[in-house]
Amino acid sequence: MNALAGKTALVTGSTSGIGLGIAKRLAAQGANIALNGFGDKDAIEAERAELESAHGITARYYGADLTKVDEIEAMMTAIESDIGVIDILVNNAGMQFVAPIDEFPVERWDMIIALNLSAAFHTTRLVLPGMKKKNWGRIINIASAHALIASPYKSAYVAAKHGIAGLTKTVALEVAEQGITANAICPGYVWTPLVEQQVPATAKARNMTEEEVINDVMLAGQPTKEFVTIEQVAAYADFLCGDDARAITGSLQSIDGGWVAR
Ligand code: NAD
Repeated sequence: MNALAGKTALVTGSTSGIGLGIAKRLAAQGANIALNGFGDKDAIEAERAELESAHGITARYYGADLTKVDEIEAMMTAIESDIGVIDILVNNAGMQFVAPIDEFPVERWDMIIALNLSAAFHTTRLVLPGMKKKNWGRIINIASAHALIASPYKSAYVAAKHGIAGLTKTVALEVAEQGITANAICPGYVWTPLVEQQVPATAKARNMTEEEVINDVMLAGQPTKEFVTIEQVAAYADFLCGDDARAITGSLQSIDGGWVAR
């Protein structure tokens, strides 16, 4: 299975959770990988080396802070010279903060909009010239069920994710005739560090125990009563990269155990 051999994929926020899962899946399909995100240097190097040795591909790590435009620009230039023109862009890096809107820290709002929305604008504008030259490209934005519906206490996150839904559709229309697709994946709750970390804050905001937050807030909304898995999201991202998905563009794909069907 080397359907993506010779392609170069940038997966932002791929040192953890969903992004790491997608990076592993695309590497298994033969894509060279640009990793990005924060974390323990040795652990990241171990993941990078494992991707190379397990799949015979090239993997490089870029520690750019995606809330900073100059760091994004430098990363994109470095990837092109280190690995090659980016064929597959997965905008995945994201963060959450849970608080009532009238207590929401302004700097958190700014940071979430910068990371969860504006970073995808910057990476997209910077990859499109290369994709247009090749007449092929895949842009996959990891949005959320919160790109389609809202929940209280997540104003910045919901606003950014609704924004990325609009960005996805706009990009898709602009490049529809150039072999490039742009889609958003909208997962429900996936058990990753991002979700684990918001349990205590949600418990505080809603005056609940942490167990009640997991069962009565998170899984209560998902009719399957199961967390979505990282592997399920990664498999769908992989499908979107293939030729069978050429006609899928500008779409918001729910993987949420039925959450938004309610
Ligand atoms: P995670 O916390 O496990 O991973 C987030 C990644 O983003 C990490 O690699 C982290 O280092 C990186 N990151 C954080 N700040 C960054 C910055 N300033 N610059 C560069 N990288 C940065 O989270 P996850 O649950 O895997 O989430 C990944 C994406 O999926 C996010 O966009 C999130 O909104 C979305 N999502 C998650 C869920 C879920 O339930 N976990 C549901 C729907 C959507």
